Amino acid sequence: MTIHKQTDVIIVGSGPGGATMARQLARSQAGLGITLLERGRDWRSNPLYGTYPGAMAYTDRATFLYTKEGVSIVRPMMLGGATSMYLGCAARPLPWWREKYNIDLDSYAQETIEELGISPLPPELRGVASGRIAEAGQELGMEWFPQDKFIWPERSKKFSCRASCILGCRCGAKWNAAEYVDEAVADGIDLWTGAKVEKVLHGAGNVYGVKGKVKGKRFVVEAHQVILSAGGLGTPRILQASGFEAAGQGMALDTTSMVYGQAAYEGLGNEPPMSWSYADDELGAMFSTLIDPWLNYPVVMLSKGPKQALSWPGWGNTLGVMIKLKDEISGGIDRRGRISKGLTQQDRRRQLRAEAVAKMILAKAGCDPDSFITTPLRGTHPSATVRIDSLLSRDLKTTVKGLYVCDASVFPQALARPTVLTIISLAKRLADHLLSTI
Ligand SMILES: Cc1cc2nc3c(=O)[nH]c(=O)nc-3n(C[C@H](O)[C@H](O)[C@H](O)COP(=O)(O)OP(=O)(O)OC[C@H]3O[C@@H](n4cnc5c(N)ncnc54)[C@H](O)[C@@H]3O)c2cc1C
Repeated sequence: MTIHKQTDVIIVGSGPGGATMARQLARSQAGLGITLLERGRDWRSNPLYGTYPGAMAYTDRATFLYTKEGVSIVRPMMLGGATSMYLGCAARPLPWWREKYNIDLDSYAQETIEELGISPLPPELRGVASGRIAEAGQELGMEWFPQDKFIWPERSKKFSCRASCILGCRCGAKWNAAEYVDEAVADGIDLWTGAKVEKVLHGAGNVYGVKGKVKGKRFVVEAHQVILSAGGLGTPRILQASGFEAAGQGMALDTTSMVYGQAAYEGLGNEPPMSWSYADDELGAMFSTLIDPWLNYPVVMLSKGPKQALSWPGWGNTLGVMIKLKDEISGGIDRRGRISKGLTQQDRRRQLRAEAVAKMILAKAGCDPDSFITTPLRGTHPSATVRIDSLLSRDLKTTVKGLYVCDASVFPQALARPTVLTIISLAKRLADHLLSTI
C-alpha cells in the first residue's frame, strides 16, 4: 500500500536549510500546507543523545564513512541535521557572496545573529589552554578572535561544553536547527520523521511531488513547490535519481585536520571546542582550538599508525590547532553513494603551509615540538555538490519549475568557515522569494 498526500510545499531534510525554510514559511501566515520529510528521527530526548554509542547510531555508517581517498566524513542523519553534532560556531556570510554572485545575505545574517543571540562565549568560559593558543597566535602577529557561537550557557542548568560536545549537546546550551522545526510544527506544518525521499516527481518542466519510503511503507507526496535540503550528500543523490545527471559532480569539504602537541599543563579536552579562531584567507585556511574527544582520539589516530595512537595517554595535556582548508572543488558523489574526494595539488600545498603555521603556534604556546602529530583528514562540511551558477540559478531554482535547493550543496565554492549562519541566511532569502511569488 502506498501512502498518498497532497500539500502546497514539500521540504526534504531538516538541517539548517530545511528547518529554516519550514519555520519561515510556516510563520508567514500565508496559509500554505507544508510537509517536512526527514529520513532520521528526533534523538534529542533519547538518553543516548550526545554519547559515543548515540553518535554511532545517528551518523551515516556509524561514523565510519570514508571517501575513496580515505578522508573520513561525519554525516549526522537526524532531526536538525548536522547541527545535532556541530560545534555551535557561527561566521557571517563571506563578502564574495555579494561581490561575486550578487547574493546579499548580510541583513538575513544580522537578523539571525540578533534573534539567536549569537556571540562569543564569555571570557571565563573560553578555556585556559584555548586562551594560551590564541595568545601564542597573537604574539606571532595573527588576529585570533573569540569565536562567535550559537551557544547560550545561561539556558543550561549544567553548562559543560567540552571536546565530547561534538557527539551531541547534552547540556542544552547549544542551538539546534530542530528548534526551528519545533516552531514550524507549532505553526502547523506536517513533520514526517523516518521518511526517506528517493526521487523528485516532475514532467513537462514542472515539479509535482516526491516519492520515497517511510517506516517500511512507500509514499507519494504531491505539491507544486519542492525544496530539497537533504544536505551536501543527500540532495545530489535525490537529484541524480530524478534525472539530473550533473548533480554531485565536484564537491567541497572544508577539509579538516588537527595538529596536536603536548604541553606541561592541562590541554583542551575539558574546554569548549573552537572557542578561539583565526582565518587566513590569503593562505586559504581557518584555524581554531580543537581536539578529538577522549575515546575518538585513539580510533582516529590508529589510521595514522601505532605511534600516533600510543600518544593517547597524553590526551589530558594535548593542545590542538584545527585547520579547515578552503579546498578546491574536486571529486564528487556518484549514483551509488560512493564519494571520491582527496586533496588536489593546490590543497596539498595549502595543507603543508597551514600545518607549519599550526606548529609554530603550538611551539609558542609551550608544546614540545617532538610531540607534534597531525590527525588524518576529515570532512564535516560536505558542500558545493549542486552549485549556484552551475546547476542552480542565484535564486536557488533548478531548471524544473517549482523545484529548489537550499542547503550546503548550493555553495559555489568552499567556505572554509562555519556554514550554518550562511545556510540559515540563504533559506531566509529563499523563503522571502517564494512568499513574494505566491
Ligand atoms: C561534527 C560537525 C561539527 C560541525 N561544526 C560546525 C560549526 O560549529 N558551525 C557550523 O556552522 N557548521 C558546523 N558543521 C557543519 C554544519 O553542521 C553543516 O554544514 C550544516 O548542518 C549543513 O546543513 P544542511 O542544511 O546543508 O544539511 P544537514 O545539516 O546535513 O541536514 C540534512 C538533513 O537531510 C536529511 N536527509 C538526507 N537525505 C534525505 C532523504 N533522502 N530524505 C529525507 N531526508 C534526508 C538528513 O538526515 C539531515 O537531517 C559541523 C558539522 C559536523 C558534522
